[in-house]
Amino acid sequence: MYIADVFSESELRAFGAEIPFSFRAHTTIGVGGNAEAALYPATADGFSFAVSRLRSAGIAFLVLGKGSNVLASDAGYRGVVLRTDRMRSLTLTEQGILAQCGVGVGSLLRFAAENGRGGLHFLAGIPASVGGAAFMNAGACGRYIGETIRCVTALCGENAHVFSSDECAFSYKHSLFMEQPFYILSVEFMTEFGEKKSILRDIDRVICARDRLPRGKSMGCVFKNPPDVSAGTLIEQAGLKGASVGDAVVAQEHANFILNRGKASAAQIRELIETIRMRVYAVSGVRLEEEIRYIGEF
Ligand SMILES: Cc1cc2nc3c(=O)[nH]c(=O)nc-3n(C[C@H](O)[C@H](O)[C@H](O)COP(=O)(O)OP(=O)(O)OC[C@H]3O[C@@H](n4cnc5c(N)ncnc54)[C@H](O)[C@@H]3O)c2cc1C
Repeated sequence: MYIADVFSESELRAFGAEIPFSFRAHTTIGVGGNAEAALYPATADGFSFAVSRLRSAGIAFLVLGKGSNVLASDAGYRGVVLRTDRMRSLTLTEQGILAQCGVGVGSLLRFAAENGRGGLHFLAGIPASVGGAAFMNAGACGRYIGETIRCVTALCGENAHVFSSDECAFSYKHSLFMEQPFYILSVEFMTEFGEKKSILRDIDRVICARDRLPRGKSMGCVFKNPPDVSAGTLIEQAGLKGASVGDAVVAQEHANFILNRGKASAAQIRELIETIRMRVYAVSGVRLEEEIRYIGEF
């Protein structure tokens, strides 16, 4: 079944449908084939409507935020992408901020600062959507987004359900949403009251510290850190800085980043990932596990 058999022309227009959808154009690593289509729901009801239609038609789908931690196969994805970009409302709550899943982390931090709400500065510079960051339990400087979350509203089956922070089972680069087909609609953050000036200073400090990270097309860190050692250190010790397959290169500045220096394919990046895994295992006996998420078949 095709998407045009499932949604009317006016529904596709209302969803801002992109047919086909290019992962190369919409992921930060800039590789991958196409999906049949992408839909951009603007509201939680629209999101839920799209999910329910796709499910009843038996069409596979996946949710994509900013595409900053995914590697899509060169053959693309046989299904529909639900992009959260248009779900970006932000509201102040008594103790914090309620953000829809498609809000960018940068917009969340600007809104927080404007309203004298601090405590989220450690997220500055992460090129994520709120939904993607909560799904991945993204973090930096030893802190993780899960610590700041009061609750998450997610679509479970046909209904939205509110999960307390404990129920979200956040742990290192892990959340409940990786285990169940629940889709994050919005996140309520707990914030600290503060002065706009000092909140902005905290944000700037974090952004400056990130200056050392590699520039260019990447997915951020490719591997999770094993206990007590960073994956980047292990990769460096295995002598892999600068190692490459085609245009896919291990970054000199941070060995846990793979850069697409031009026309890398997903297959080349995957080959480099396997080479890193094997060499690190041979040198240190540690088996690295990916942090990035794969889309499609490899
Ligand atoms: C230059 C660079 C720097 C980075 N620095 C950091 C860093 O400091 N710390 C860090 O933790 N990460 C970092 N990352 C990785 C990445 O930004 C994070 O993992 C981020 O949380 C991914 O968010 P996203 O919106 O891009 O998610 P996507 O890449 O779009 O999706 C990631 C996963 O989340 C799922 N998902 C997305 N939205 C939803 C939703 N609403 N409901 C359910 N599932 C959803 C997707 O299906 C996918 O499986 C970096 C990446 C880059 C490119």
